Formats: sequence, structure tokens, C-alpha cells
Amino acid sequence: MNAFSLVFLAALAIATGVRLWLAARHVRHIQSHREAVPAAFAGDIGIDAHRKAADYSSAKTRLNMGAIAIDAIVLLVLTFGGGLQAIDNLAASFFDGNLARGVAFVAILAVILSLVDLPFSLYRTFGIEARFGFNKMTLGMFFADLAKSSALGIVFGLPLLFAVLWLMAGMGELWWLYVWAVVVAFMLFMQFIAPTVIAPLFNKFSPMQEGEMKKRIEELIARCGFTSKGLFVMDGSKRSSHGNAYFTGFGNSKRIVFFDTLLSRLEIPEIEAVLAHELGHFRMRHVVKRLALMVVSTLVFFWLLGVLMDQAWFYEGLHIAFPATNAMSLVLFFMVVPVFTFLLQPLMAMYSRKHEFEADEYAARFTPARDLVHALVKLYKDNASTLTPDPLHSAFYDSHPPASIRIARLEQLART
Ligand SMILES: [Zn+2]
Repeated sequence: MNAFSLVFLAALAIATGVRLWLAARHVRHIQSHREAVPAAFAGDIGIDAHRKAADYSSAKTRLNMGAIAIDAIVLLVLTFGGGLQAIDNLAASFFDGNLARGVAFVAILAVILSLVDLPFSLYRTFGIEARFGFNKMTLGMFFADLAKSSALGIVFGLPLLFAVLWLMAGMGELWWLYVWAVVVAFMLFMQFIAPTVIAPLFNKFSPMQEGEMKKRIEELIARCGFTSKGLFVMDGSKRSSHGNAYFTGFGNSKRIVFFDTLLSRLEIPEIEAVLAHELGHFRMRHVVKRLALMVVSTLVFFWLLGVLMDQAWFYEGLHIAFPATNAMSLVLFFMVVPVFTFLLQPLMAMYSRKHEFEADEYAARFTPARDLVHALVKLYKDNASTLTPDPLHSAFYDSHPPASIRIARLEQLART
């Protein structure tokens, strides 16, 4: 144990404690508001739907509390418990070369971590989602999805890992700059191929059918000054009855995608309002800003790894033998950094909520604000999202403003 061990343990205890405390508050708050629909929604959402939302949100949060605790335990087992060291020894028994050993090390760890996550994932889908009537997946589909994502991890992740480890070993002092460039290029490439290559492996995308809806949507897109390469409908109902719409890709692969579940529930003006909100994210440059933030934070991440990876105290503090392999440094850093950056979470959430307000304002300029209100109320109801989150929990995590605040702002816009 050195000073860094204590700092790390204290940070882990704080991060885990705060997470669990926030979750417990959230459940308590929701349950204490279970019997009364907030006045602003009383006309649209009945008490049964409100209770369902309370129970659904509580169930998800309770499961999450279990996951938070397991995550902390896994991290301790992997570091102080000698887990990473054991996996590295196993990898070394298969391969002599550092590169192959590093790749095997990460691959074995990835398999172990996904096995730890599997029960949570299964329970989320077939326990909670099924109990509240959202799940449409069969076990067969679940494991087919898992097989596909694993295959994608092998096809895209392994070559990236090889490249990163190779650069770390061969590029001298400035390796982190090369690795950063490669990782950013990889992320951009993935975003580029996501709509046309990756997403179709999981869902069917059909061009939106000609008719009133398509005509109205195209008019809105033109009014907002966009040219769209494609309007698509995704068979989201295959897996879940939750609805959504999104804007994806960039350049020539740009697409606007509507879940079939969204189109079947909302009226045309409401769909227009939801789309105007999504276009707002694009027009207000939220997409570009997020991308820039990601590029910069990745640079800081690898630079810091470059500084830390030669420091014996970093490894010894976490009970890892020093000197360690590059793969070990990479993995260790990936696992330890979130414990310390956890307190940035509320800042990120606040930034995201600011964007949501801006996109709502944008939508209100091109479509009646009331239409977005109606759409949101329907979505909250259909998705059984809680209307009464704990304010502190919401401030800490929520990427979207709480329903009451968001809708009050829109009502205000509707009046002006
Ligand atoms: Zn949004």
C-alpha cells in the first residue's frame, strides 16, 4: 500500500457511495410521489400510468444499484485482488510476443467483463422490461445480438487494439499523439459507417413510404434549411415498444431515422415537432461540439496515460507488478480514470441538458411548441418515464431536463 492506494480507495469509496446514495434517494423520491400525478400532467396521464412509471423507474434504479456495487467489487478484485495480474500471466502462457500477449490479455478481460454484465443484461430485458410490457425480444434474439456485437468487436476492435499497442511500443516518447490520431480516426470512421453498415445488422431500415407524412416531413426539413439524403423507418418494435427518433451519420451517410413505434403513436404534427427538435441539435452544432469535446478529452486521456505509465507508484499503488506491459497500462488506466472523473458527470449532464433546451427552442421556432409538448407527454407516458425524479439525481445524471421543467419552458414558448 502506498499513498496512491489510499487516494484510489478513497475515490472509489466516494464515487460508489455517492452513486448508491443518489440511487436510493431517487427511488425514495419516486415512491413518495407515486400516488399523485403532478398537476401539470393530471389531464393527460392517469394514476395507473403514473404508478407504472414509478415502479418501472424504481426497478431500473434498484438493478442499477446492484450493478454499481458489482462494478466496485470487480475493480477491487482485478487490482488489489490480483485479477489483472492473473489474466496477464494466462495471456503470457499462450503467447511469447508482447503484441500478441497484450491483445490476448485485453480479449480475455473483455470476455470476463461481459460475462459479469450478462446476468444484469438478461434481467434488464427479460425481468424488468418484460414485466412492464416493453420487451419484444426472445432469448434467441438476445443471444444473436450478443453474437453480432462480439463479432463486431473482433472485426473492428481487434485491429484497433493491435494498432494502438504497436504504436505504443514503437513510437517513442510521443506515442500518445499517434495513438490519439488513430483512435479519433477510428471513431470518426465508425460513426461514418454506423448508419449504413452496423445498424442494418441489427434492424431493418425501410425508406419512409410516400404519403402525407413524408410530404409534411420533407417540407419541414426544407423549411429548416436541410437537405436530407434519406428518411428511414426502423423496425424498433422488433425488440422493444419504446419509441424514438434520431439523426445519424454525417456527410453522405446522413440519415434521419424514425422508430416504427414512434410513428405509430404520434400524430403527424407531433412527429414534425420531434424531428424539428432533432434538426435543432444539428443546426445548433451540438453534434459537432460533442465530437470536438470527445476529440479533446481523448487527447488529454492518452497524454495523461503517457505521463503515468512510467510511474512505478501508479502500478504499485494498485498492486500491479512494475514495469508492466503496455496493454496492462492501457487497461489499468481505462479502469481507474472513471473513478476520478466521476465528479465531472454532473457537468456533462448539465451541458447535455443545455443542448436539449436549445433544441426545444429551435423546434418551437419551426413547429408549434404545443405539438412538442403533446409529443413529449405521450412519450413519457408510453415509455413509463418518471415525472418525479429526485432533483439531485436528475441534476447529476440526466441528459434531458426533467419533464416538468422542460414542458413548462415549452408552454412559455407557446405563449410568446
Ligand atoms: Zn434532444
